[in-house]
Amino acid sequence: MAPYATETNKSQAKEDNVKEDIKTLDSTSQKLKIIYPYVITFSYWHLAGLYGLYLCFTSAKWPTILFGFLVYMLAELGVTAGAHRLWSHKSYKAKPPLQIILMIFNSMAFQNSVFTWVRDHRLHHKYSDTDADPHNAHRGFFYSHIGWLMTKKSEEVIKKGKTIDMSDIYSNPILRFQKKYAVPIFGTLCFVLPTVIPMYFWNETFVNSWHVNILRYLVNLHISFCVNSAAHKWGYKPYDKSLLPSQNILVSIGALGEGFHNFHHVFPWDYRTAELGNTKFNITASFIDFFSWVGWAYDLKKVSKDVVKSRAERTGDGTDLWGNK
Ligand SMILES: [Zn+2]
Ligand SMILES: [Zn+2]
Repeated sequence: MAPYATETNKSQAKEDNVKEDIKTLDSTSQKLKIIYPYVITFSYWHLAGLYGLYLCFTSAKWPTILFGFLVYMLAELGVTAGAHRLWSHKSYKAKPPLQIILMIFNSMAFQNSVFTWVRDHRLHHKYSDTDADPHNAHRGFFYSHIGWLMTKKSEEVIKKGKTIDMSDIYSNPILRFQKKYAVPIFGTLCFVLPTVIPMYFWNETFVNSWHVNILRYLVNLHISFCVNSAAHKWGYKPYDKSLLPSQNILVSIGALGEGFHNFHHVFPWDYRTAELGNTKFNITASFIDFFSWVGWAYDLKKVSKDVVKSRAERTGDGTDLWGNK
């Protein structure tokens, strides 16, 4: 366990440092430049995914659909337990075997390399909902959901992105491997294997297998996107009512525990990204707990209940999460 007080002070000092910077950033000043090849790519994913949904109700075999659900769960954990809680926030430590598992799961989700994901995410936390935030929610739901991936990064995002400390990620051989062999790794784990396995093991057709997997990929994408859009728009703010990030239970269910977003932006180093110790909607926390039991995850960081409570009383919106009001 990390010392709570020290972590809290460190984070407070960091917050104070960037506050001045944030004041100078206008939240919607720069015009957006659309990247058309990305628009075409996303359009294809959506058309193919919709066709996959149609096939789920018509000709796809049920093991193909179940397999799609399994791939979705593993890929999602690669984002939530891997790219997010382990690599972006260092909220726990993982031994190499777990890091390899998470890199493989993460590649099944293909949300760019972990290098890019972590840089964008650290930037998002440091400059939340300003022009230096890659998915600034002040630009509207569509932009923070998916629009930011189809437009050129703002000058502020590029400029401030260079100030993010990425030394831990650059020095990680498992993540360097993922980046170096990005095309074969993402191609194989996100597209080829999930398509070929149903064809080989239960004689699924190529058309069914490909489109159901694209549907699975699309669901993974949209669930992650919802953390940036829906969880920055709808929900309670028990910890800091001045922030856009909110507690959104629906996002938590889909994103395996990532929707307790007001808590997460206030205490980003907590491996649970949630305060209640409730693992019902937090499969990612259970996954990390399991590997902690195995011995492959260690130094799990938690914020104490007292720190959480005093912060909630100081800056929260008054939502009662402890049932004692
Ligand atoms: Zn956020
Ligand atoms: Zn985060």
